[in-house]
Amino acid sequence: MLPPRSGFENSKARLKAFSLLGLKPNDRQPEPLVTEFTMPELPEVETTLRGIAPHVTGRTILECVFRTVKLRWPLDPALCRLLPGQKIQKVERRAKYLLLLCEKGTIIIHLGMSGSLRIVPAGTTERKHDHVDLIFTDGQCLRLTDPRKFGAFIYTDIDPYRHKLLHNLGPEPLTDAFSGDDLYAAAKGRRLAIKQFIMEQKTVVGVGNIYANEALFRAGIRPDRAAGRVGANRYETLVYTIKEILREAIDVGGTTINDFSQVDGKPGYFTQQLQVYGRSGEPCVVCGQPIHNQRLGQRSTFFCPTCQH
Ligand SMILES: [Zn+2]
Repeated sequence: MLPPRSGFENSKARLKAFSLLGLKPNDRQPEPLVTEFTMPELPEVETTLRGIAPHVTGRTILECVFRTVKLRWPLDPALCRLLPGQKIQKVERRAKYLLLLCEKGTIIIHLGMSGSLRIVPAGTTERKHDHVDLIFTDGQCLRLTDPRKFGAFIYTDIDPYRHKLLHNLGPEPLTDAFSGDDLYAAAKGRRLAIKQFIMEQKTVVGVGNIYANEALFRAGIRPDRAAGRVGANRYETLVYTIKEILREAIDVGGTTINDFSQVDGKPGYFTQQLQVYGRSGEPCVVCGQPIHNQRLGQRSTFFCPTCQH
């Protein structure tokens, strides 16, 4: 077993990245590499859902406060009049969207690249990137923090599942709607690399870069293999490993990374075992050969050329 990892902290991949960029290891980690570690993926969003649900379900909104005009999209000032008085009846997740179902409509939240939600007592002094507060009549506050402002906080009064952001999404990976048979059928004739195929939101939602790398390693499939050239049995295995790895990540609270924080405000850290991601040049945990790293569709791709084919 490998020790728990903390991203690139001590990896050869990190040292190599530094030398390529002409930096010394003590210099700040280069930005493009950090980005992939900070993005909340499906397990983080599910963890957030489970963390906030007991604190917001059944609560009535007293006040909605915006401290910026725009995240990914403009924040609608009308919500500060529309939301107070409404009770949150239910909290759901679809892909990486959190849905706060209120009496007259639904708040749709996306954490973007660096967003997080916390429950704090109303009136808690805000910090620099705390952009939205939903204050409840019980004195608690749901606070959205988002340093990079790629997140979303929008409202719809139609069925949220028919909203343009949600209605074209593929199946949820942790439901029976995501099966080996369907994946195999959808891949027929596709020349796209399988890793890119499983990261397409129409194929299945919420399989981000870290989990795509790890699931393909466990399934023994090379990430650059054409999606249409993978057999039905191997798709069965891949669906199993995707579900397995997402469940494991959710169980340990998501691979909470860099500026993603747990709902209770403690800084996050890696607790899940990563077998290939970020391990370029390090020995494969199965065969001992070095892990390869290449870009595939602009994303870092890690695999063992011996174990994956
Ligand atoms: Zn190997």
